Amino acid sequence: MKTLLVNFALCDSEATRLTVENGVITDIGGECSDFDRCIDLGAATLLPGAVDVHAHLREPGYEHKSTILSATESAAKGGITRIMAMPNLKPVPDSLSNLAVEENLIRKYAKVFVYPFAALTEGERGERLSDIEALSKRVKAFSDDGFCVNDLRLLEEGMRRVKAANGIIASHAERRGAASAEEAEYRAVADELELVAKTKVRYHFCHLSVKESFKLVAEAKKQGLDVSCEVTPHHLTLDESMIRGADWKMNPPLRKRSDREATVQALLDGTADMIATDHAPHSRAEKAVGYAAAPNGILGFETMFPSVYTALVKTGVIDIKTLSEKVTAAPAARFGLGAGRIAVGERAELIALDTDAARVYTESEIRGTAVNSPYIGAEMYGFNVFTQIGDKIIYKFDEKIKEA
Ligand SMILES: [Zn+2]
Repeated sequence: MKTLLVNFALCDSEATRLTVENGVITDIGGECSDFDRCIDLGAATLLPGAVDVHAHLREPGYEHKSTILSATESAAKGGITRIMAMPNLKPVPDSLSNLAVEENLIRKYAKVFVYPFAALTEGERGERLSDIEALSKRVKAFSDDGFCVNDLRLLEEGMRRVKAANGIIASHAERRGAASAEEAEYRAVADELELVAKTKVRYHFCHLSVKESFKLVAEAKKQGLDVSCEVTPHHLTLDESMIRGADWKMNPPLRKRSDREATVQALLDGTADMIATDHAPHSRAEKAVGYAAAPNGILGFETMFPSVYTALVKTGVIDIKTLSEKVTAAPAARFGLGAGRIAVGERAELIALDTDAARVYTESEIRGTAVNSPYIGAEMYGFNVFTQIGDKIIYKFDEKIKEA
């Protein structure tokens, strides 16, 4: 199979033609006439597929929210070709046999690459550590996301064992009993950084969102700790003044405007290493009960690029190369995953953003049955319009992409 892609823009090349043969990029910029198909990308910007290290796919166990099939179709639509799946599932992947349930479903249904997190503690209950040594042979990372391990002695022991197994922990930092939601985050960050200094474990903070947390992480990096953090599209683009209902409810919650500005600043100065979505589908019925009673979490895959592109690239705060790096190379390097690169000899893992025309994101276009997105109705630039992995085109936006 030979595919010729034409009529696109690249970040650092004038080329507008690219050939994929048997799943591999074999030519950039040259002529090619013996193709099996030619795809006109409508002047979209061609990028490597994004890597999202924080997502909730809900299967096994919560298929009424989403399935591995529907979630990975949504990821493909959003331009995300690699996902790390959080372990708040049924069964929780806290042992090899429980992990195997999830792995089998991924093998059967996933449309993009999916890497499971293993739980750090049994059942994510924060009482006993999971089988870290056995699990570390099969997973890239450990997390109890959704829950913070509040027992710091247990966490320290977990850090030592993950360190010995050469793994990495992703932490949902939220201290129980703090005076405010902001303090819950940065107090946990401060406590955990002390243990990171003691144990020297590789450590990653999920979805940081308040000014004080970024200060602590910046200081820890200066001291040479092996620490990283992610920020979410919603904390970069929304704040608490914009809350209009349960589809604006997530954890950590939308913060003050000054915290949103600190989140953007952290991305700019490198304190925040990467962007991850915290994609978290919930059913319509679960979100229909009003803000106070509704569960935490919003959809993230399909709006990651347009929300951040519109708020930060279109306005000149960051350039598209930086955005691409924060969602591809940076997370892949930190978690030891592969990622697409646009170069001859690389396996094709390609997406294309329509940066010229704005359009309104609609409920009816969402893949899957959950529609809990605060971006429905928003007019945005930078939607993904094309996703190809190997020889397979797994998404295309028909209004923009033409087979020539
Ligand atoms: Zn979390």
